[in-house]
Amino acid sequence: MMAQEPHLFVLGIAQDGGYPQTSCRGACCADAWHDPTLRRHACCMGILDPVTGARWLIDVTPDIKVQWHMLNRLAEAHTTADTLAPASPTGIFLTHAHIGHYTGLMHFGREAASTVDLPVYAMPRMRAFLERNAPWCHLIAERHVMLLDLHDGERVVLRPDLTVTPILVPHREEFSETVGFTIRGPERAALYIPDIDAWELWSHALTDVIRTVDIAFLDGTFYDGKELPGRDLTTIPHPCVSDTMEQLASLPAEQRQKVHFIHLNHTNPLLWSNETQRALRARGFEIGQEGAGFRL
Ligand SMILES: [Zn+2]
Ligand SMILES: [Zn+2]
Ligand SMILES: [Zn+2]
Repeated sequence: MMAQEPHLFVLGIAQDGGYPQTSCRGACCADAWHDPTLRRHACCMGILDPVTGARWLIDVTPDIKVQWHMLNRLAEAHTTADTLAPASPTGIFLTHAHIGHYTGLMHFGREAASTVDLPVYAMPRMRAFLERNAPWCHLIAERHVMLLDLHDGERVVLRPDLTVTPILVPHREEFSETVGFTIRGPERAALYIPDIDAWELWSHALTDVIRTVDIAFLDGTFYDGKELPGRDLTTIPHPCVSDTMEQLASLPAEQRQKVHFIHLNHTNPLLWSNETQRALRARGFEIGQEGAGFRL
């Protein structure tokens, strides 16, 4: 008997530019240029309802064609043969208007998948950005996508026991506001925050929010100040993994182990250094793994 609980799948763990990153000739990306198995996609999550076969995406990255295929392959293990696999996503939730998080929408237009009224959930400024700028406005005008409104803290019901709720986070806002999401199933809940300027600037206490979920995928863009020599740490608009671990060090082990760092920049040794990965795990934290599934 197949489980009826929805699942959350990790489809990408890298920062917007992916890993390796365009033009990088550094040691960080050298092995990944040669070995495709070391490559990582930009941050993206998939949600599956195994009862109906419905599947949603959170963030739609430049790597989406591979990630949507990955979600469908992962879903096969959790759905029965007679559960119809949809040709396109049941819906897409957007966090913000930086390239790694929304530009994959281009693959649903006329030149590629050519969807009809694909539901895309967006916050007000994100919505206005898509409506006012080409090529995105054409996707809307030609009804490849259909925009639906998100409001801070208001849940969207995917099925009666499965909800997605946006939470505003502080993050440089040239084009849109930025949200993270909580994904709540019948048994468990997940938090997804790929981008935030600083935990201290957030209107929620990170330690409190972690206690309300079972797994937390958090902004781990940079590991520490050593990655960006010559730059003042206070000017980096992301919390360093080393600082976030420090902030959470007093949490009991069962709370710390919920934390999975994602949105890793190509310079972040969590992508390529076994030693750094081991050190992080020794402190009770985790790294997001592409292809990993989590029962909600
Ligand atoms: Zn990003
Ligand atoms: Zn690199
Ligand atoms: Zn961003």
